[in-house]
Amino acid sequence: MAFAYCVAKLKILASISATDAKPRNVIYNFMKTSIKKDTHTGIQPIRVLKHNLTTRLVERNENYIKQLHSDFKLDKNIKYHIAELPLVKRQCPYIDENGLINIHETYLSYIWIISYYFFVLHEELLVIPEQEKRGIPKRKNQNLNLYYEAEELFNYAKSLIVVYSDWDKENYPNPEYFDENTEQGWYILRTNDLFVEVLNFILYHEAAHAEFEHIKKIKENSLSEEEIKELELEADTRAIELILSNNRSRNSSGLSIIIGIASILFFSNNLNGGKKHPNINIRLNNAIKIFNPEDENPIWSILVLFLKIWDKQFNLGIKEERTYNDYKELYFHLLSQIK
Ligand SMILES: [Zn+2]
Repeated sequence: MAFAYCVAKLKILASISATDAKPRNVIYNFMKTSIKKDTHTGIQPIRVLKHNLTTRLVERNENYIKQLHSDFKLDKNIKYHIAELPLVKRQCPYIDENGLINIHETYLSYIWIISYYFFVLHEELLVIPEQEKRGIPKRKNQNLNLYYEAEELFNYAKSLIVVYSDWDKENYPNPEYFDENTEQGWYILRTNDLFVEVLNFILYHEAAHAEFEHIKKIKENSLSEEEIKELELEADTRAIELILSNNRSRNSSGLSIIIGIASILFFSNNLNGGKKHPNINIRLNNAIKIFNPEDENPIWSILVLFLKIWDKQFNLGIKEERTYNDYKELYFHLLSQIK
């Protein structure tokens, strides 16, 4: 994915709060078509991508997956749960003691929307304005309607954490029913690809639990909370290495790892990972250390956006206090303000 990077003037996103809750004009509603086929079972629009998840998972590293199958560590199937349930009702991915990975439609919807929202936000409010300011040729003009619409969709995604409701695919961007020849369609097609990559990271994380027999270890050794958290980090590390060792674009794979981890931010107003998971900043920093992006990599501005949007959700009061050399510096300064 071609994220142009933008350094310099970092009083970014003062515009975000100013642009809230403005009415948007629905300007594209013409040639939408549905890409759903009979094999796409499920009830949420995300169903049209279910086969893409497993195809890329296996193609990416067939020997690794086959070995896990033949060692009976990983089940050959992935259980795809279809339920009108919010994320807090056990709808987040996990692997069971028989090596069966469980994924849930509501979680998939949530991840697609987070990917879409941050992609649109980054392009429309950062990259395009920055290109304009610097006189760099732009792909297209800024269209704030796309941002307003994405933000409403993002609010829906956050509501899915605690309450289930249907995704309004007539009125909001979604992977099933859209017109690919619109600006919105351009974002949807690329989000689909990014989404599959995020899910590949998540599925490889679960596969790593199987590879290292974590569930067995936890049971047999009655591990402490701290020791269990170490295993989670080990699964992250393995998944990141596997994703980065075989990718079409290192940057979009790096981005997908960041989205996979940072998407947890919107569940609560702190970085605490709870009893089983390391704190989110520890997981993010572990990922950053392995991915090792250069200072001007767009991953830093995406990370800044995640923190800013999270701050906005929970009024955490983190501030830009001075000018910064780059987004990397800004990211670490914002993060340092979080207790
Ligand atoms: Zn895990």
